[in-house]
Amino acid sequence: MREMVGGCCVCSDERGWAENPLVYCDGHGCNVAVHQACYGIVQVPTGPWFCRKCESQERAARVRCELCPHKDGALKRTDSGGWAHVVCALYIPEVQFANVLTMEPIMLQYVPHERYMKTCYICEDHGRESKAACGACMACNRQGCRQAFHVTCAQMAGLLCEEEGPEADNVKYCGYCKHHYNKMKKRRSSENANSAFCHSRGRSSSPSQDKHHHHRQRKVNAFCLLLFPN
Ligand SMILES: [Zn+2]
Ligand SMILES: [Zn+2]
Ligand SMILES: [Zn+2]
Ligand SMILES: [Zn+2]
Ligand SMILES: [Zn+2]
Repeated sequence: MREMVGGCCVCSDERGWAENPLVYCDGHGCNVAVHQACYGIVQVPTGPWFCRKCESQERAARVRCELCPHKDGALKRTDSGGWAHVVCALYIPEVQFANVLTMEPIMLQYVPHERYMKTCYICEDHGRESKAACGACMACNRQGCRQAFHVTCAQMAGLLCEEEGPEADNVKYCGYCKHHYNKMKKRRSSENANSAFCHSRGRSSSPSQDKHHHHRQRKVNAFCLLLFPN
C-alpha cells in the first residue's frame, strides 16, 4: 500500500512535524509508516518501534482487515480479536475506537449488515471480482450516487477526503467515486473555493499542524454526540 500512496498509511501525507512525526515500523519487511496521531501512538519510543501487526507475532497469513481485502497498511486489533486498518475504521462511519487516545481496539459492532453486502466497484473495475464482496464498503458522498467501494481501494485511487463537518472543529471523513471526485474537484477549482474546505488526502493536502494533530479524535466526539444528544 505504501508504494502506491506514499507517506503515512492512514492520511497519505508525506510530511512529518515535530509534535506529530512520521514513525516507521522496524518490523522485518514491514513498510508501515504512520503519523503519531494517525495511529494513536501515545509516546514515540526512542528505540525501535513496531506496528501492532509486527508486535503481535501472529502468523502474517492470519492478519487481515475485516473491512477490506488489502493486507498491507497500518492495522490494529478489533475488540473481537481480529484486525482492521485504521484508515478503514476512520472512513466507515459507524466504526468506533474503544480508546480514543490509543485508537484501539477498533469496534465493529455498530457497522450495519448492509455495508458487508455491498460490492466494491473499484475492485470490479480492476478485475478483482473475487475481492469485490470482501469486507465492508463506504459509499460515494455525492447524494444519490450508488457507488460503493472499499476504503483502501479509494485510498489507493486518491478518492478520500476530509471535509469540514457541521461544527467548526468537526472533520467528516468521506470519499467519492472517481466520477464525482473529478466533478467536485473541477467545480471547486472553478468556483475558486477555499481549498481547505475539502483537501484530498494526497501529497498536495495542507492541513494546519494543529488540525492534523488533533482531528483523529473528533470522529469519536461526533459519534458520542449522535448517541447521547443532551
Ligand atoms: Zn497521517
Ligand atoms: Zn510493522
Ligand atoms: Zn481495511
Ligand atoms: Zn475494493
Ligand atoms: Zn459518485
